[in-house]
Formats: sequence, structure tokens, C-alpha cells
Amino acid sequence: PKIIKVALIGNPNVGKTSVFNQLTGLNQQVGNYPGITVDKKTGVCKINQITKAKIIDLPGTYSLNANSIDENVVIELLLNKNDEDFPDVAVVVTEVENLKRNLLLFTQIKDLEIPTLLIINMSDRMKQKGIELDIPFLEQELKTKIALISSRKNIGIDNIKELILNYKQLSTEPCLNASSIDPEYFNRLRKAFPNQLLYKLWLVITQDVNFLNLQRNEIENTFTRSHTELKRLQQKETIKRYQFINDTLKIGQKIDKSKATDFQSKLDNILTHKVFGYLIFFGILLLIFQS
Ligand code: GDP
Ligand code: MG
Repeated sequence: PKIIKVALIGNPNVGKTSVFNQLTGLNQQVGNYPGITVDKKTGVCKINQITKAKIIDLPGTYSLNANSIDENVVIELLLNKNDEDFPDVAVVVTEVENLKRNLLLFTQIKDLEIPTLLIINMSDRMKQKGIELDIPFLEQELKTKIALISSRKNIGIDNIKELILNYKQLSTEPCLNASSIDPEYFNRLRKAFPNQLLYKLWLVITQDVNFLNLQRNEIENTFTRSHTELKRLQQKETIKRYQFINDTLKIGQKIDKSKATDFQSKLDNILTHKVFGYLIFFGILLLIFQS
């Protein structure tokens, strides 16, 4: 019987370890501060009577433009098809309150053309925060399947298992076209390395990683750019991704603070919308009293 290899990837604090624990029945430490998962932890999830999944809980990472050891663990695994843990399916975990920021990493993972599944965790906070999501629309735009779950309330975990079981139906299409970062440059890259994934080449060039059985020098000799130029292109990539994410969420996500039921949101709402009204009201009262 085959074992499906699953990598849990996401920003710190989105609930990856909570999801890992739910799926594996293990009890890894859950923490409300970043960096608690220092290297990868693995566990087994029984998907159904015959199928098992090996779940790999990776350290929290904000993007694939790695600059920390934690982030390198993720990028090294995802670029290395020969790694024994190279995933059949990448599961990107996000949470309802920080979806915009969390999706940056999702769009990068999608560009690696690995079957990718999106978990939106902490659905228990949506009502409280006045958040609504159009899941079918988001699935269509992000070219993925979405499991909207609450790992705290144990809601939606079976849905994740079902989607993992059917991972072969997940799209491997990227969300956006990496070559739009710099068409001329990427065209040259494509010609020089016709069999390589452009976004992987891009990561090899911009990071200090050595993969794809390519000599780093081989790429560098032909495609050298100054450090500042590479930084500029990386920024351009981030801007492009956020443009795409903003456009998608503009339709796919509604946040109505006036519908929020928690105290903080109520207070925010009153402060932003009502304070001026009250000030004018009491101002007029004061004027009447004085005259
Ligand atoms: P990780 O850093 O991504 O591994 O996240 P953790 O699993 O350590 O969780 C981070 C924090 O989010 C912890 O305080 C969890 O209790 C909390 N958390 C996880 N899942 C949920 C959820 O479904 N709802 C709510 N409200 N909080 C959650
Ligand atoms: Mg963790």
C-alpha cells in the first residue's frame, strides 16, 4: 500500500502544528510564538482503511525568498526531488485573519508545480471578526482546492484527509506567470535551460542554493546580475504577487467590521465610525447649553 507524502507549509502561527496533531494523533508542542518548530517533524495519518499519509510539519516560513535557517529547510525540501520526504502534495496552511499575508507563500509554492492544497484555518473566528469567504471563487482563482477548517474545534479535518487522498486531482498550474517579473531575462533563461522550471531557476539564482543538478556557476556565468539588481527583481516579484492576491481577495473575501461580534472589533468600529458623530452631537448640545 502506498504512503502519500504530505508537507505542511505556512507562516508561523497559522496552526500548522495543531493541524499536524489532529492528522497524526501526535502531540507536538503548539505555541503562540514563531519558531517553535525548529526542524521538520513527521507523523503518520491514517487516511482510510488502506491508505496512509506521512505528514511532515515544517518550520514556519514567510516566503521562499529565504533568509533564515528555518526558511532554508523548506526550500531545500521543495527543490530537491531526490529528498526522501519530497512531497506528493504540498499543503499550505493559512488562517482567516491574515489571509492576505499568508497567501504570498502559497503563490510561490504553486509556482513549483507540485500538487498544492490550501487550508484556511481558524474558521471559528470568522463570525467574531465579520469575515466571509467565497470558497468556490477562491478555489477557481488560486487554482487549488480549499479546506476551510478549525483545528481548535476539530472542524474540517476529514475534509483535509479526503483532499489528500485525491491529491492527483489537484492542479499543478501556477497562479501567476513568473516570467512577467522580467520577460526578457526569463526568456533567455528558458532558452538556456528548456527542461527546467523557470521559477526553480529563479530561486537558484536569487538564493544561495545549489540544486537541479545544475552548476551554480553555469547559471551565473550567463545570467549574473548585481546583488542590488536581484533584490530589485525580488521586490518586483513580491509586488506582483500581492497585486494578484489583492485582486483575488477583493472579490473572494468580505470583511464587515460592523458585523463582527468580538469586543476589539466592536471597539474599532465605534472608534472609526461613531466617534465623530458623538463629538458633533455633544458639541451641538454644548452650544445649546451655553446660549
Ligand atoms: P504553527 O506556528 O503554525 O505551528 O501554529 P500552532 O499550531 O502552534 O498554533 C498557533 C496558535 O494558534 C496557538 O495558540 C493555537 O492554539 C492557535 N490555533 C490553532 N488552530 C486554531 C483554530 O482553529 N482556531 C483558533 N481560534 N486558534 C487556533
Ligand atoms: Mg508549529
